[in-house]
Formats: sequence, structure tokens, C-alpha cells
Amino acid sequence: MNTLNLRTLMENNKEINYPIWHPFSGSTKNFFNQLVLNRGKGIYVYDNNGKEYIDACSGLWNVSLGYSNEKITDYIIKQLGLISYCSLFEHTNSMVVFAANKILGLLPDCFSKIQFTCSGSESIDLAIKVMREYWKLRGKISKNLIICFKKSYHGTYYGSMSVSGITRDETDRYAPFLENIVLQEVPDESMEQEEYEIYSVRLEKYIEENHQNIAGIIVEPILASAGVEIMPIEYLNRIYKCCKKFDVLITLDEVALGFYRTGKSFYFYNTDIIPDILCMAKGINSGYLPLGAVAFHKNIVDIYTKSNVILAHGSTQGGNVLACAATVGAIEEYERLNISENVIKEGKYLKSQLTEKLKYHKNISEIRGIGLLISIDLTDNKKQIPVSQIKLDYIQKLLAREGLLLYRSLTGLTLLPMLNITRAEIDKLLNILEKFFRNYMF
Ligand code: PLP
Repeated sequence: MNTLNLRTLMENNKEINYPIWHPFSGSTKNFFNQLVLNRGKGIYVYDNNGKEYIDACSGLWNVSLGYSNEKITDYIIKQLGLISYCSLFEHTNSMVVFAANKILGLLPDCFSKIQFTCSGSESIDLAIKVMREYWKLRGKISKNLIICFKKSYHGTYYGSMSVSGITRDETDRYAPFLENIVLQEVPDESMEQEEYEIYSVRLEKYIEENHQNIAGIIVEPILASAGVEIMPIEYLNRIYKCCKKFDVLITLDEVALGFYRTGKSFYFYNTDIIPDILCMAKGINSGYLPLGAVAFHKNIVDIYTKSNVILAHGSTQGGNVLACAATVGAIEEYERLNISENVIKEGKYLKSQLTEKLKYHKNISEIRGIGLLISIDLTDNKKQIPVSQIKLDYIQKLLAREGLLLYRSLTGLTLLPMLNITRAEIDKLLNILEKFFRNYMF
């Protein structure tokens, strides 16, 4: 199959016989879905014509250690030689236990259990279920309301879709959603203290007045899909304090941030927050096999133990032994490569070089981010408003033709390169971007 011919056909919106309905795509037309990537090595992917691309999206933000990592592959192959599947509904497996302990080893001691899932969306659904059930077990049946944020993205299952603010335009058609979900406005880091103070006070007041009905709050501390909007740490700390005061559970969605994306193993280590529930996926095994996980604070586990009830959640492939073997391999690689240090060092370098090289461009309004999660905000020069998604799509396409794959957000382009990226590889990526923006204005 010739990609380019297929692409042209698709762009002309002609009907073709193509069997896959890609996520968040229309039934026919999309340039990127036609890029056939059949091979990957390190930070590079190759299309079926042999063209090389730097994958600065790390797959879908998950392939944190790059493609063809030997350690992870070895773990998977060895596990395949032992047993390829074990039903956790009935039994257990040493590799799954090992993976759970590896994850717990990255968390404070107050976390006592992990339940594995198949994805970030499923992790969020599980968190919603547990936040609601927890209060029922404690006899407080009115506490079932979930607070979430307007610009957050938590996934596509019914629960995770119901608490996602950002995709509402596209998902409203699937209503009715879960009931008793309250969406709140989000402050961002660029705000002055007096400005985000208003947001803190408003949310604190809401929690104080309604806590008898609130089960918990779900927070994505850096709104990655919205364009790397960083919630002020002081705001997060205040909300946490308020939740503790009024008996409201706090779930952190670290599906995108967890496993070193911003430097520390988990982002909450930058704050005072110790979440009651922590949702993970993506970097959990560097995207080698589908897996997510939820970690529970022992206060939650204790209530289940005392109440002697089961946690009615699970899926056939949740905690798949091969995916867990990949997790053990990935966590050992994160530690062996001292990935935290690399993310901090190379993230600072990448951001400062981007700022130095691109800040004079008239369409770039801000370069923002932490660790290896960086947004280049683009504005339309005439209107000084965020560039349209159609234009962004076009820019993303042009960059792909230059051999660079970047993620498109609401505000511009997002870079999420592999966490083990080298200085030389970053320089190569920067050269492509610099050359592109030198010649391209809109
Ligand atoms: N939460 C966040 C913050 C995410 O970024 C994502 C995916 O991008 C999800 C949840 C959903 O994860 P998944 O796509 O694995 O279902």
C-alpha cells in the first residue's frame, strides 16, 4: 500500500476501503492516521517508505524509554516463556506482585495496595467507584458528588468521560453522563496570586458548604491535553488542606505525569498533597503493553478490610502478566538510567533553547512546561488569539514532513520526548524546529 496515494485519496475525502476507525477521528479523512509506522528504534519511528521521524510525542506520551528497549523486551520474552496469562480473579502471579511492589516502592509508605487496570480511563473509573463506595461503607450515603475541572482530560470510558471537561464539545452527544459531577474553573500558573486566590476561595467555599454531599475531587495537576496548563502549587496545597478539613477524598490523575515525565517519579512530590487515590497508566511500562494502575492509601484499604466487602472491579486483562513484566523492566530502567536527573537536566536545556531560539517568532506567545513536558503556544498574528485547530493541524503536518512528530493541543504544539533522550538528539530536534519557524509565519 502506498501511503502517499492513500493520503491523497483521504484528503480528497473520497470513499476508500479502510477498516480502522481511529480514536477521535472521523470515518474517512485524516492525514496522521495514514502515516504507517511499522518500525521504531530509540526516539525514532520509520514509516513504510523508510522515512525517519523523531517521535517527540513518545507514542501517545507513554513510550518514555523509546522503542526496542532491550531490558523491557527481555522481561516480556522471559515472562512469555513462563506463563502468558494468569486470571487475577482466581489466582495470583509472582510477576504481578513484583510489579505492584515496584510501584509501591516509588510511593510513600501510606500507600498499601495497587489494583491494575488496562488503561488510564479505566483507572479513573475505578477511582470514581471507590470514592463513592468508601463513604457508603462509612455510613455517609449522601457523599457521592465528584468535583472535577473544566480543562481536564481523564479518558473516554463513561466515568472518565463524565469527569473530563475538555472533551465536552465532542462528547456531549453521548449524554447522559454520570450524575452528580461538578465541573470547576481552573487557575493556571501564569496568574498572579491575587487572581488565583479567587479560584481557591471559590472552591474552598463550595467544599465547605457542600462537603456533606461530596465524595471526592479528581485533579489533573498539570492539564496536559489542554496545553500544559500548570495549576499553581499553592492552589493545589490549599485545596488539599480544605479536602482534609472537610472529609473529601482526593484523587490525583497522574496518568500523563507519573513515572518521571516532569522529573520526579510522581508530580505530587512537588506539592504537600498525599492523594487518597493515585491513577496511573502511560509511562507505567513505557507503552510496551496495555496497562494502568490505581494506588490506594491505607486509610481506604482499612475501611474495606473493616467492612469485609469486596472491591467489585476488574477486567480480564487488567494486570496482564506480560504487561506487568514490562513494568518491572521499565521501572528498573528508570532507576538504572537515573532518569529523574536526565529529565530535569535535559528538560531545562530544551526549554531554555526553545525560548532562546523561538521567542522572537511573532506567532509564538509562550514556551511553558516542566521536565520533558513542554508547550509551544501559538497565536494567530493578526488576531493575537490562539491559532485555529485547522492551522495547527497544517503546521503539525508540515513538521511531520520535516521528520518531527509533535502533539497538537488546544493552545499550540506540545513536546513530550522520550525521557532518556540525549543532548545530541535534543539538538537535532531543535534544529528542525528552528529551521521550520525561521521559514514559516502565519
Ligand atoms: N488521564 C490523563 C491525564 C490522560 O492524559 C489520559 C490520556 O491521555 C487519560 C487519563 C486516559 O488514559 P488512556 O488513554 O490510557 O485511557
